Amino acid sequence: LGGSISRAIQQMSNATIIDEKVLNDCLNEITRALLQSDVQFKLVRDMQTNIKKIVNLDDLAAGHNKRKIIQQAIFNELCKMLDPGKPSFTPKKGKTSVVMFVGLQGSGKTTTCTKYAYYHQKKGWKPALVCADTFRAGAFDQLKQNATKAKIPFYGSYMESDPVKIAVEGVERFKKENCDLIIVDTSGRHKQEAALFEEMRQVSEATKPDLVLFVMDSSIGQAAFDQAQAFKQSVAVGAVIVTKMDGHAKGGGALSAVAATKSPVIFIGTGEHMDEFEVFDVKPFVSRLLGMGDWSGFMDKIHEVVPMDQQPELLQKLSEGNFTLRIMYEQFQNILKMGPIGQVFSMLPGFSAELMPKGREKESQAKIKRYMTMMDSMTNEELDSSNPKLMNESRIMRIARGSGRQVREVMEMLEEYKRLAKIWSKMKGLKIPKKGEMSAL
Ligand code: GDP
Ligand code: MG
Repeated sequence: LGGSISRAIQQMSNATIIDEKVLNDCLNEITRALLQSDVQFKLVRDMQTNIKKIVNLDDLAAGHNKRKIIQQAIFNELCKMLDPGKPSFTPKKGKTSVVMFVGLQGSGKTTTCTKYAYYHQKKGWKPALVCADTFRAGAFDQLKQNATKAKIPFYGSYMESDPVKIAVEGVERFKKENCDLIIVDTSGRHKQEAALFEEMRQVSEATKPDLVLFVMDSSIGQAAFDQAQAFKQSVAVGAVIVTKMDGHAKGGGALSAVAATKSPVIFIGTGEHMDEFEVFDVKPFVSRLLGMGDWSGFMDKIHEVVPMDQQPELLQKLSEGNFTLRIMYEQFQNILKMGPIGQVFSMLPGFSAELMPKGREKESQAKIKRYMTMMDSMTNEELDSSNPKLMNESRIMRIARGSGRQVREVMEMLEEYKRLAKIWSKMKGLKIPKKGEMSAL
């Protein structure tokens, strides 16, 4: 009896140690990912401490998918870190608000000012732009060009060198013209320096903005915290916009900016064009930060739907950004094999709502089979290419003839492919689990 008790105790303590080890391994892995995504070291450490307090080792011992429990806890914790607890000032349509943009030179202020104005204009607002950057030559021309393109009224001067004077004049004018969103673009410097912050303070005092927006380049790395804090100390930053999220940066600096300014991120910039601008959404952002793609649970879904032996290859291709027609074909095969089709479908990102409306599973299944017949008439080159331009008119006609389908149907199939490719391309740059880690995930 004594032997079995001690054995049981030993087993119990072993179990705890194992769960603690799983927790630590998992945390270390995610710590690495977060540091690579430029999350500030101190924030990562705080998060680790919190997670250890939150995750209950007993739950881990009882639960089957330990990693899932831990991942979920980390996910929630990061979401919490991006929420400063109070919303930022939100301008109201039809009421005059002054919004001042601040940030270092090159962070994307001028571009983002126009995007912000354009975004609101499309919703029926009357925005206006004021160029209070007299520091950089060409600043006014840039704003003028942007504003003209978007048909947004603007104000600035080639002669006047006092940014405060221009800012005040511009705001006054547009108040008189009943604009409801008066946006003041300011100058930046290459470095954080006293003169810049003094200028920001003066412009802010003179124009009394309802909201000061701090614009931050997502690729500045670990510098984010200090930069955001420096701006917060001179002007009352109330919200953050993170730019250049289309690049390589995963944007961990956003966490720093929130921590340093105690303000929320409200938009992100995803390109140089006017409409490459998105409302910031915490969950997809955190998924991306954790290398989980742009939505939570992407990996889980792949693991559930895609057969084990196909997973490494698929993930490798997706991480390279190659969602080819052949991959689509193979995923169709997987889906048809698995049934009941409704359940399986909704598991793979992008394969749900559009491709398979609820309650119309039979039709969806027929559609997939039709698509696959058409793809059977494609050449290897066509199936393995990720160049959408390859599919020219003569190829489309050949495929239609070969499969006994209409050109229109082939085009519809290719449209579907493009839609999925766009969604799945977000897996680009994904960290691929090493052999052996796969089943543990
Ligand atoms: P400012 O000095 O802060 O006013 O920055 P600008 O607005 O002049 O932007 C600096 C550069 O960054 C320009 O070449 C912009 O086109 C580019 N830029 C701004 N926002 C984005 C973005 O979200 N994505 C990309 N790829 N480029 C951006
Ligand atoms: Mg500028």
